[in-house]
Amino acid sequence: MRRPLALAAGLAIALAASASLQAYLKLGTDTGTSVVAIRWTRQPIQWAVTNRTAAGIAAAQLQGAVERALTTWTSEPGVNLSTSFLGFTSAEPRNGDGLSTIGFQFRPDLDRTLGATSFEVDAVSGEILEADIFFNSNFSWSDSGEASRFDLESIAVHEVGHLFGLGHSALGETELQGGRRRVLGKGAVMFPIAYLPGNLDDRTLEEDDRAGLLDLYGAAARDDHGAIAGRVTLDGQGVFGAHVTAFNTETGALVGTFSLNDRGDFVVAGLSPGIYVIRVEPLDDADLDSFFDDDLPVDVDFRPAFHPRLVAVPPGGAGDPVEIQVQPK
Ligand SMILES: [Zn+2]
Repeated sequence: MRRPLALAAGLAIALAASASLQAYLKLGTDTGTSVVAIRWTRQPIQWAVTNRTAAGIAAAQLQGAVERALTTWTSEPGVNLSTSFLGFTSAEPRNGDGLSTIGFQFRPDLDRTLGATSFEVDAVSGEILEADIFFNSNFSWSDSGEASRFDLESIAVHEVGHLFGLGHSALGETELQGGRRRVLGKGAVMFPIAYLPGNLDDRTLEEDDRAGLLDLYGAAARDDHGAIAGRVTLDGQGVFGAHVTAFNTETGALVGTFSLNDRGDFVVAGLSPGIYVIRVEPLDDADLDSFFDDDLPVDVDFRPAFHPRLVAVPPGGAGDPVEIQVQPK
């Protein structure tokens, strides 16, 4: 049995890996017989903030930045998500105490991690019971866009995406600079590498983020959106961990996902109705553990391929399943 990602997800400042791939990914839990997407079912989601000043940010400033980040997601049209601030706490952002806590921790050992989200989930139903976010006070932070500091709200939007159950997207492009990866551009806040200090672009969601959110919490919008389902195969066998991207020929919006089982099955949901180009490509192997458990046999030995036909996405459903056949490298 395979699950898409370990139940902890961080945001790196730099990874020694290339990435020009596309996808959103739901976090999942392995029930022993299947993989269940994790999501909140009891709402409003209640959260607390640690009552300490850290990294030059007062507790109330942290609370404000997180509140804005939460609202960025929950105010999306058609999304059924609500949160409620419980208050300030002396608890640490740590799993197992039943309290979803958000706060700074000084973690000089994690010198490439700006923040991370961890979960307690019901392993059978996938219900998220608790989620905790820490921001690493080993870095310099700002809530007002200071040039030399990381933007707290931007990083909070990314971590809150995890808190709601989203994994990483690979929609982004980086270049190697002095042994570290610098982000050239992103098509998703959920891309695992952050922008440089002072950049505020991740305060705003991209189409790929919205699609992932609608997939998890968009029941009310389901009549207005559609999906593409299908398989990725190589010599008739399913390909696991392939990136499947859907490009809207009218709007230029790009949304993607991964094939997540031995059959190579995938579903890209939360799509605006329209005509799409479907492309499949391997995930760069140096980057795999940002997306999948490192013990999973992700298939990367195949060449990128397009589906030979355009695919129509109708409102409220999916067209016929597509099969994309790829060739070995
Ligand atoms: Zn992350």
